[in-house]
Amino acid sequence: APGPQASTAHPDRWPAAKSPDLVDPSTEAFVTHLMASMSLEEKVGQMIQADTSAITPEDLRRYPLGSILAGGSSPPLGAPDRSPAAQWVATSQAFNKVALEKRPGHVPIPLMFGIDAVHGNNNVVGATIFPHNSALGAMRDPDLIRRIGAATAAETAAAGFDWAFGPTLAVPQDDRWGRAFEGYSEDPAVVRSYAGAMIEGLQGRGKATGGGKGLIQQGHVSASVKHFLGDGGTKDGIDQGDTRVDEDTLIRIHNAGYPAAVNAGTMTVMASFSSWNGAKMHGNKSLLTDVLKGRMSFDGFVVGDWNGHGQIPGCTNADCPATFNAGLDMAMAPDSWKGLFETTVAAAKDGRIPMARIDDAVRRILRVKAKLGLFDPARPYETRADVLGSAEHRAVAREAVAKSLVLLKNTGVLPIKASANILVAGDAADDIGRQSGGWTLSWQGDGNTNADFPNGQSIYAGIAQAVKAGGGTATLSANGSFTKKPDVAIVVFGEMPYAEMRGDVRTLEFQPGDKQALDLLKKLKAAGVPTVSVFLSGRPMWVNPEINQSDAFVAAWFPGTEGAGVADVLVGDRDGRPRRDFAGKLAFSWPKTAGQFTLNKGAPGYDPLFPFGYGLSYARGGTVPRLAEVAGVDASLGNTSLYFARGQVPAPFKLAADAGVTVAAVDGPQTQEGARQFSWNGAGAVRITGPEIDLTRETNADLLLQVTYRVAAPAKSPVTLGFGAVRIDARTLFGAAGADWRTVRVPLKCF
Ligand code: BGC
Repeated sequence: APGPQASTAHPDRWPAAKSPDLVDPSTEAFVTHLMASMSLEEKVGQMIQADTSAITPEDLRRYPLGSILAGGSSPPLGAPDRSPAAQWVATSQAFNKVALEKRPGHVPIPLMFGIDAVHGNNNVVGATIFPHNSALGAMRDPDLIRRIGAATAAETAAAGFDWAFGPTLAVPQDDRWGRAFEGYSEDPAVVRSYAGAMIEGLQGRGKATGGGKGLIQQGHVSASVKHFLGDGGTKDGIDQGDTRVDEDTLIRIHNAGYPAAVNAGTMTVMASFSSWNGAKMHGNKSLLTDVLKGRMSFDGFVVGDWNGHGQIPGCTNADCPATFNAGLDMAMAPDSWKGLFETTVAAAKDGRIPMARIDDAVRRILRVKAKLGLFDPARPYETRADVLGSAEHRAVAREAVAKSLVLLKNTGVLPIKASANILVAGDAADDIGRQSGGWTLSWQGDGNTNADFPNGQSIYAGIAQAVKAGGGTATLSANGSFTKKPDVAIVVFGEMPYAEMRGDVRTLEFQPGDKQALDLLKKLKAAGVPTVSVFLSGRPMWVNPEINQSDAFVAAWFPGTEGAGVADVLVGDRDGRPRRDFAGKLAFSWPKTAGQFTLNKGAPGYDPLFPFGYGLSYARGGTVPRLAEVAGVDASLGNTSLYFARGQVPAPFKLAADAGVTVAAVDGPQTQEGARQFSWNGAGAVRITGPEIDLTRETNADLLLQVTYRVAAPAKSPVTLGFGAVRIDARTLFGAAGADWRTVRVPLKCF
């Protein structure tokens, strides 16, 4: 493995970009004039953002903060989580009222109020929930992205917010990453083609005029492209991990969308939790200052991620001059804002943060507030609740759902006649929460019921509506039971919602050990019912057994609230003519084995099941041959990893008793961390003895298990080696019988 690489960028190697000149000179003069009237405390306050869950409007009387956010699971003031727009409007107005009463005799400085509106204004009850980004990538339709941005902005502004923390411009390279679904594609070109369009949709276009009158037309908000930089490239797909790539790869892959976003005028950029070659992005001056603000002439401000500054060595959540000196302009200090405010004022006073740096940060923040029109007393607040989930916005989302479906297999069962009797089965068939994934009404998107989506429609409801018109029926049965045999079954299943590190997985096998969906498909097949699988997931997964059992297989990603978009494509007219054809093309390569973690278009040895760009249609048709059903963690001998949950020592390390592999002798192991003893009992278990392996540390405790062995008899059938959810095909691991001694190295990794 290559040694540690540099984490200092060379700005002249990076593509140039430039924020468009949207601020007229009198606005810049307005900011200069305003800054002359500000105390040091008022300036530092602008640089700190608190979360609604950890601050009250009264706190603002003493602490002149510049921004408030509503993070993933933070409720509005005095209201429960899952609240409608009116509660958020009241919250934003309550905070701003106090902010605007300050500074008597001087121009008051409004707050900037932000939320994770990442697929629609997804944390507010009643909003239109759009498909997540991994779905949108499949559409290859920048114009529709622009319209989604505009609808999202309208619903965000109508709930009292000025700022959406999106879009995510990650280019996920390892689909085990729990945030892969927040990226548009593994391909930088797709991300690049969407970045500017989304900014234009969210922010609208216009020019700021004198006195702080904004460029933003009614119903637009500031965007925040994130997470700068390299969030999609972390080693082993670990969230907030380390992106170990050279500078050229960082530029070519991970920076792909940023120049387009800056050129389109993005007002803010969010720093990434991740590191580049070991250096935390929140402290990387060469990237935040020299590249982004220098080479790319970005004139907006850099906001931190949730206490991300506290992860810089030598910093805490409440004390971090280094992050501001590196170029962060506003720290997201949700619950640590008070301490951070005090330590930052002190650091400015004693020169640990130069005053010029403070002034630059504050100028950037006030410039954005001016562009947004926040200083304009006549600023139009459109806070009408009926903007959320409007018919117009839902039509845009429905179109996006229909265009993002990718047809992976169809033996001819699709399209379904609208006169058919359809069984709609599977545990996600009538569940808008499951359709919407993470970042939906709560951080993880769990615990939602259909009642939480007053303007939404489940996939079942969409199908029922489609067949009603054609004289057919749709019967809901989660477990797939029926009395009268249906003409066809649509089975909806997939990943449960998740967000951030909770979505990290160690294998791409769909639900290892849980065969509920597969058993349902088998049951329907045995009963002679043609089946269509609708698979909900944030990323491609290894689903070969489920594909084999299905007559048609549709990757539907996390489509959001508009279940009708699925029905538009699956259900044709009375005579079975399509009403709408499939248009989606894979923006993420689909794996052949559960161990193809970094399966990216153009990579050496690229060998997917369905390549990047794949997608069938009614016009093109297409079935697939029977697929291999062994979920090897990695298909190549000697290149096999096993993963353990942190704190779980892998003893014994089990080989199924019916394995059919007889290992004549074993020898070893050697490890990277000193010798461990293990024994082989011949009947199926490798037992690791001796000192316990310490897998409890925060870092990955990589351990190399090296086994030298000779195979006396080959494996006859698919067999598994492993424990818990992780299994390896023993035939792959041990190979064929023979007199040769072999060595296999199994890296044991902790997650
Ligand atoms: C996420 C960001 C998000 C922020 C605010 C963080 O944990 O990484 O993407 O914008 O929280 O909720």
